[in-house]
Amino acid sequence: MDDAARDAHISEIRSAVKALCARYGEDYWLELDGVRGYPTEFVRELTRAGFLTALIPEAYGGAGLGVLEAAAIMEEISRSGAHAGACHAQMYVMGSILRHGSDEQKRAYLPKIASGELRLQSFGVTEPTTGTDTTNLKTTATRVGDNYLINGQKVWISRVEHSDLMLVLARTTPRDKVARKTEGLSAFIVDLREAVGHGLDVRPIDAMINHHSCELFFTDLAVPAANLLGEEGRGFKVILDGMNAERILIASECVGDGRYFIDKAVAYANERVVFGRPIGQNQGVQFPIARCHADIEAAALMVDKAAKMFDAGLDCGAEANMAKMLASEASWRAGDVAMQTHGGFAFAREYHIERKFRETRLYQIAPISTNLILSFVAEHVLGLPRSF
Ligand SMILES: Cc1cc2nc3c(=O)[nH]c(=O)nc-3n(C[C@H](O)[C@H](O)[C@H](O)COP(=O)(O)OP(=O)(O)OC[C@H]3O[C@@H](n4cnc5c(N)ncnc54)[C@H](O)[C@@H]3O)c2cc1C
Repeated sequence: MDDAARDAHISEIRSAVKALCARYGEDYWLELDGVRGYPTEFVRELTRAGFLTALIPEAYGGAGLGVLEAAAIMEEISRSGAHAGACHAQMYVMGSILRHGSDEQKRAYLPKIASGELRLQSFGVTEPTTGTDTTNLKTTATRVGDNYLINGQKVWISRVEHSDLMLVLARTTPRDKVARKTEGLSAFIVDLREAVGHGLDVRPIDAMINHHSCELFFTDLAVPAANLLGEEGRGFKVILDGMNAERILIASECVGDGRYFIDKAVAYANERVVFGRPIGQNQGVQFPIARCHADIEAAALMVDKAAKMFDAGLDCGAEANMAKMLASEASWRAGDVAMQTHGGFAFAREYHIERKFRETRLYQIAPISTNLILSFVAEHVLGLPRSF
């Protein structure tokens, strides 16, 4: 497909996603936020329509599209006022199985994920005592017969209660017995339907946003050896390889959030009359909105660049990370300006701004915080000394 045909196809995808999202208005999201509910019907409909399976090859029943198309889908979901965090992982976590799974694993899982029969919405890496220092994680997996027994603790693992499968990273060889700290970690596919209550205890966290994140406690959880993903000891690469797609898709959500905030701020600034004129007639109100628009458009260009590089099979680590950083900061600034533009009404939940404002804040911290991106750019792009 040439560039023009691809652009036309992406426009059609955007319109279709927009139409689907319009059936789940902002009140739907407000209500879920209030009761900490999960958008089950919305996620099911997105899956059935083929949008969440965009990245699964056609041979496994998916849409076989690229990250550029997937990014457009996530952006439109966010721009509609939805909380895309409820469903984004269904799109990209399967990438680890696609790239590192055995033929048997791919045949067993991918068609069912594509059809919506299986939900792979969870990804368990973060731990309470080690945080960003991933290779220092404490959860262990020990081979006993045909199983691995997993012991340890994870925190902030999202959508566990709304997923059938979860990818988990655990240490199979102690850190002091491997040459490099990235070695000795292994990735596993955990079947949550069997695990919960049988070695896996799940405790929801009362959080600032409706992201369905949980603490997980593993006590001799038996996972069949057949569920090891990739080679034992090389799980860090399994996880790392999925990160560029994740960064790009999260960045596109932020672009969607930013455009949402700007749409809202412009509409309100045009309609709200104070001192006998629309507040948007004051340059003190206009300029911050215009600046945010420029910031979001710049971030969107970086998302576009990273997505095209990813789809071309190029190394896009720097671009994917920079896209995530720039877009998450731009969307946050746009949220702040939308708050300011709405004055006191920004605080009224029925205006929806405060919910999106809380939701978009996450992306400067997860899935990777800004400092860690700056550190990556400083060391790997600019050649500055390694700091940790
Ligand atoms: C709502 C939510 C959902 C999440 N979902 C998931 C999930 O599904 N799966 C999962 O595995 N994880 C998930 N996470 C975890 C998330 O990825 C981590 O919170 C994030 O990576 C930061 O880790 P931390 O919280 O341990 O922060 P820490 O590692 O403790 O860092 C705290 C702060 O210190 C800074 N910092 C740390 N070290 C350095 C350094 N050397 N130099 C400069 N600054 C530094 C960081 O940038 C950060 O700002 C989620 C988190 C949240 C809040």
